[in-house]
Amino acid sequence: MKKKGMIIIVSAPSGAGKTSICDALIKSDKNIVYSVSTTTREPRKGEKNGREYFFVNDSEFKKMVKTNMFVEWAKVHDHFYGTSKKVLEQTINKGKDILLDIDVQGAVKIKKQYKDALMIFITTPSLKILKERLIKRNKDSLEVIKRRIENAKKELTYLPKYDYLILNDKLDKSIQEVKSVICAERLSIKRNKNICGGK
Ligand code: 5GP
Repeated sequence: MKKKGMIIIVSAPSGAGKTSICDALIKSDKNIVYSVSTTTREPRKGEKNGREYFFVNDSEFKKMVKTNMFVEWAKVHDHFYGTSKKVLEQTINKGKDILLDIDVQGAVKIKKQYKDALMIFITTPSLKILKERLIKRNKDSLEVIKRRIENAKKELTYLPKYDYLILNDKLDKSIQEVKSVICAERLSIKRNKNICGGK
């Protein structure tokens, strides 16, 4: 029997550097497919429909929920986000790994259905550093930054549910750490039972 691909979940508070790490991972590892979520939020400058997200309106999203298109969906920062069930199943059945960049609520929902999903949490070494980064990137108002920090505190309460923690201090080091985690998991006995004989 062909070995199934691995589900790799990456969650992080806003500003922790998750997008840069995920981009580097996708570029360097041809066996990992990025799961493009569907969202009701507006596209940001430079975002393309079908690349970062599939952008839909509320009623389209609700229809997709009703017709069971999502393996998980959640409301994050006032908008809806969902992961395609079909893409996830097709990808892992082909033996490819799938990278889900999703929030903590979605991560828990996936883990309930796929016990083998690998859960990686990325954050900054401290909330103070997170705040400094959010201020430095100059994208959000102080009000929004405050809200993001409050959200980050809530997200951190989900940490015990994750398998690995990456403290993103230096980007290159963090990318290497995530790659190492994935490499180790691919080699783990639990993911190679068909080869090891299962005893
Ligand atoms: P952003 O709108 O900034 O790209 O993402 C906001 C948050 O939504 C991030 O934490 C991101 O990981 C999360 N997110 C993106 N796609 C999904 C999804 O399909 N499901 C869930 N549960 N969260 C998602």
